Amino acid sequence: MGHVIGIDLGTTNSCVAVLENGQPSVIPNAGGYKTTPSMFAITQDGKRLVGHLAKRQAITNAQSTVYASKRLIGRRFDSEEVQRAIDVTPFSIVEGPNEDVRIEVSGKTFTCPELSAFILREMKRVAEEYLGEPVQEAVVTVPAHFNDAQRQCTKDAGKIAGLDVLRILNEPTAAALAYGFNRNEEEKVAIYDLGGGTFDISILEMSDGVVEVIATAGNTFLGGEDFDRRIVEHLLAKFQEQEGIDLRGDAMALQRLKDAAEKAKCDLSAREVAEINLPFIASDDSGPRHLSVELDRATLEGLVHDIVEGTLKTVEQCMQDGGITVDQIDQVILVGGQTRTPLVQNRVAEHFGKRPHKGVNPDEVVAIGAAIQGETLVSEDDNLLLLDVTPLSLGIATFGGHFARLIERNTTVPVCKSHIFTTTRDNQSAVKIRVLQGESETAAENDLLGEFVLGGIRPARKGEPEVDVGFDIDANDTMTGKEQSITVNATGTLSDDEIQQIIEEQELYEVQLKE
Ligand code: ADP
Ligand code: MG
Repeated sequence: MGHVIGIDLGTTNSCVAVLENGQPSVIPNAGGYKTTPSMFAITQDGKRLVGHLAKRQAITNAQSTVYASKRLIGRRFDSEEVQRAIDVTPFSIVEGPNEDVRIEVSGKTFTCPELSAFILREMKRVAEEYLGEPVQEAVVTVPAHFNDAQRQCTKDAGKIAGLDVLRILNEPTAAALAYGFNRNEEEKVAIYDLGGGTFDISILEMSDGVVEVIATAGNTFLGGEDFDRRIVEHLLAKFQEQEGIDLRGDAMALQRLKDAAEKAKCDLSAREVAEINLPFIASDDSGPRHLSVELDRATLEGLVHDIVEGTLKTVEQCMQDGGITVDQIDQVILVGGQTRTPLVQNRVAEHFGKRPHKGVNPDEVVAIGAAIQGETLVSEDDNLLLLDVTPLSLGIATFGGHFARLIERNTTVPVCKSHIFTTTRDNQSAVKIRVLQGESETAAENDLLGEFVLGGIRPARKGEPEVDVGFDIDANDTMTGKEQSITVNATGTLSDDEIQQIIEEQELYEVQLKE
């Protein structure tokens, strides 16, 4: 039997791990690095590059180098997050035929799952080279706060990459598995994961072989990239002030600034002051101009302070959801490269009233946890019971634009729930079911996962027919078999064609919760 690999498909960096002789370890790539940049590029002469090779040429080929595409996966083109990304991204983000996001690189158009697949295939190759045998099966991690569409797209990416994705695992849960490996203590742990593009907080309860997620919360559009952007804004303002030149429209200059900003940010984790020198960043009639700015830690902290406080508010919400107080938390574990910033470490420590655990590598724990989970899945090891939760409430839109929750966020999965709905008009023969995920009471403010029409309702007065809507969420936290059945007044099942005909023939009305 071949090995199962665990892949941490990160916004910024990806990592692959495997369990050998019962010991998990991260697999280094050919260059000896344990993480690989989640970047893809096409060079001027049409060569496709992934990982470090793509990153190395990003400055001179900004428009054809894709980074952080995980921030766009599974999102609708018109969403706020995508529109925000378009404003700050040197590569071209366009609308796909399904209101989805596509990315244009060197005249070719790619979907987000395809771009993720390039990274996954690279991680598969790294593992195969190391193990000396083909690898088929993998556990791939996603931010706990990913919705159903984002999870489905990640699964699709695995398929495109030629992988059999055994499980989609939440990143903080994976980190907890790695932490709890061969530890038999009963404890409550908080996993604070701040990476390049996402933030997750999960509270878990661990005891002999059982890992139970109590609550999770997060933001899939907040991370180190935002720190970098704040620094870039600061540098742009400084340069404009000193030289009177606005660099905002210059893609190459912006890419150099972004690179320098990230480097300065990382330097400031170990030092008090960082020098940012970018010679020949611009030129005008009087000749070339150079950017030279000194950034100290206090200034950086001022620039990003509110972002860090924002994460702590999310922590608070998660604790409240789980009915947990800080003094009940035994361990705080930091995951993600951005947690190396001293301000983050200090604020988290203050918030929980204890120093975070030092024993895990924030870049590697997620992949290691995925590898551990992969092994237990194939070896049918029943010593590990993993109980995760769904991060977002799931429900449908009802009459008047309201959101009817069927499954509350932080419900343990797998779960199956149903509810009876009814019609809002006399003799209504079809209803439109709009499936949504989110926390707003207003349907339109939540993410639309899909919609379909249920036809064949026998003529009756409004409020009489009963439409049973049921949801199943599996252990991958993806919805399968959205069950739809009309339990009363049904005329029997309809073919897809018939339903289609109904859609065309009549006006549709929203459903209403039956009293
Ligand atoms: P992801 O899981 O999103 O791929 P990572 O966990 O690899 O992200 O974290 C990447 C982020 O961590 C980047 O924004 C990077 O700049 C930041 N980072 C890495 N090292 C440091 C450091 N020493 N100090 C501060 N930030 C760092
Ligand atoms: Mg990560």
